[in-house]
Amino acid sequence: MTVAAMSIACSGPVPAPDTEQSPASSSDGAFGPAAAGRKYLVERVDEAAIVQLYADGFAALPVKERILTWHLYQAAIAGRDIFYDQRYAHNLDMRDVVEALISHPAGEAPVRAEIERYTKLFWANSGPYNNLTARKFVLTCTPEQFASAVHAAAEKGATFPLRPGETIDQMLTRLKPMFFDASFDPSVTTKTPASGRDILASSANNLYSGVTAKELEGFDEKYPLNSRVVKVDGRIVEEVYRVGGRYDPQIRDIITHLEAAIRYAPDPTAQALRALIGWYRTGEERDRRAYDIAWVADTSSSIDTINGFTEVYLDARGMKGAWEALVYYVNRTKTAAIQKLASEAQWFEDHMPWDRQYCKENVQGVTANIIDVVIETGDAGPITPIGINLPNEQEVREKYGSKSVSIANVNEAYDRSMDAGYRSEFSWSPEETARAKQWQGAAHELATDLHEVIGHASGRLNHNLLGCTPQTHLKEQYSALEEARADLVALYFLPDPKIVEMGLIRPEDHREVALAEYENYARTALVQLRRMREGTTIEEDHMRNRQMIVNWLIANTKAIERRVRDGKAYNVVVDAGAFREGVGRLLAEVQRIKSNGDYAAAKALFERHGIHFDPKLRDEIVARVAKLNLPSYTAFIQPRLEPVRAADGAVRDVTISYPQDLTAQMLEYSKATRATREEFRRSAAGPVQGR
Ligand SMILES: [Zn+2]
Repeated sequence: MTVAAMSIACSGPVPAPDTEQSPASSSDGAFGPAAAGRKYLVERVDEAAIVQLYADGFAALPVKERILTWHLYQAAIAGRDIFYDQRYAHNLDMRDVVEALISHPAGEAPVRAEIERYTKLFWANSGPYNNLTARKFVLTCTPEQFASAVHAAAEKGATFPLRPGETIDQMLTRLKPMFFDASFDPSVTTKTPASGRDILASSANNLYSGVTAKELEGFDEKYPLNSRVVKVDGRIVEEVYRVGGRYDPQIRDIITHLEAAIRYAPDPTAQALRALIGWYRTGEERDRRAYDIAWVADTSSSIDTINGFTEVYLDARGMKGAWEALVYYVNRTKTAAIQKLASEAQWFEDHMPWDRQYCKENVQGVTANIIDVVIETGDAGPITPIGINLPNEQEVREKYGSKSVSIANVNEAYDRSMDAGYRSEFSWSPEETARAKQWQGAAHELATDLHEVIGHASGRLNHNLLGCTPQTHLKEQYSALEEARADLVALYFLPDPKIVEMGLIRPEDHREVALAEYENYARTALVQLRRMREGTTIEEDHMRNRQMIVNWLIANTKAIERRVRDGKAYNVVVDAGAFREGVGRLLAEVQRIKSNGDYAAAKALFERHGIHFDPKLRDEIVARVAKLNLPSYTAFIQPRLEPVRAADGAVRDVTISYPQDLTAQMLEYSKATRATREEFRRSAAGPVQGR
């Protein structure tokens, strides 16, 4: 499972990506000011932000771990084309065409600019389908302009993915609907097609060819996660992703790099990598399971990787694994900070503002590793999750556990690339804007940790309620109430001297950090209304929770004032002490409701403060946000690794750099896999064209 960008802390239904809630991080201390002055937002392409990712901890890793990372990094690039082919049968040909044009620019400037715009979006989304909407996007120059650019590039020495005997014009005719016709293969994944239409026939991805979901109902699928299902001469066949099967050239290349990595890996990692190679060789379910178990068992290593057919979101049936790779190291500073919180869980429990009878006696904090990614490819990049929890198989999870990671450097890059206008538009004063700029990232990161590690783990149910869950009593109010409880715990303890005593924040920064989070919290209750394009009620639980808390504080304390200036509304925090006192009172009541399963009280609380909003206010917020022209999604430029070789060619060390150039990186990746791509095209298992 993945956590998409900008959910507050917990996974679950996540609205459109957003930037106001992303925690940031820093390289100096657990929750100090973030690295300032370097470039995060590299460029905007239509609604996409192109952002550089930094992995500051890499240079401090022992050299053996840097070399291990280098081999895993190469394995991540080796499989990248697999995902392109899975996403669309024509993807690799299309990419080779536009990359040839980018490498050999020719023709009129406006046409060149359009090809560049299209290609950058193509790279960001791993093909011609928007990652958020699944809809196709096309070139806006004419096919004739495109054809003359291709011919001009060919004259300059560019090569194109021609079929045997095919001319350039024939290739252009073959690919014309893919580049120019938005109604041809219009959607990559259609889970709910127009009535009567088949989910597979309506999805343009390449996980199936020539078969419908209905035809598969009685079919005995032996490789549900790692095969492409095709119809050959009227018979349904699975093309298994493995050595000797589909993607053989790429998979053999991945294995070569994994084998090189094993020599530098600590024992548990080496065992997991051997199991992964075993699965790539046989493709069998039992070997996939053995790999999952070995991967979960590797809990202590500093370097880890996810490499294989993993998440099933691309498949309308939710069965086929899209190929992805991530290579990452544990961020020790940040992981230590949440472990420190977890180790003090009992102190927090003993100081909760609620009735003693609801305090747990032996509370355990919830922890996960905080990581920094070095590279993400395939289904995981350039558009990336902010958290991952694997493996997906329920049975393995129950018996052997799972690993959960939160990706710190992605969160940091989201926060640092945020449009400055975003903060200032909704801040009442320049002081508030400055405070948000300096502290919001760190403050929100600490609040998120408190929410997760302390908040959800805390509190005890009334003994009358034992034997059944609070969900049974609180029904549809439960999730929003539980999220409110965890948020309130975070807001309550953020200004507590204990946070400074624990060394999580420097004493001189404490007041500003807590205030920045309070202001951010109050502001976001307004800003999030822009997502409610229709109606006058909120459905999503995290949003209900935030509305409820802020509106309750406005109604019941003197902490927040709703002010209007030049026809614009602001939530202004005027008394941080009253804010905390109100949070404590509300938290005591929310805990009482949960502990007793008091449905009527939960419903009244959310009906009064959390669910309904003023559509006029929403319209105002929507208009203000539209003026800011914010990106709707972010694609990341990955760090770049480079080996330092000895005279005999052996890798002695590895350096890291930050290209700040999407084009250079994408061309470099494609060049690295040219040989396996051409072998794949030549092999019988190459893409079957036409659907
Ligand atoms: Zn939560």
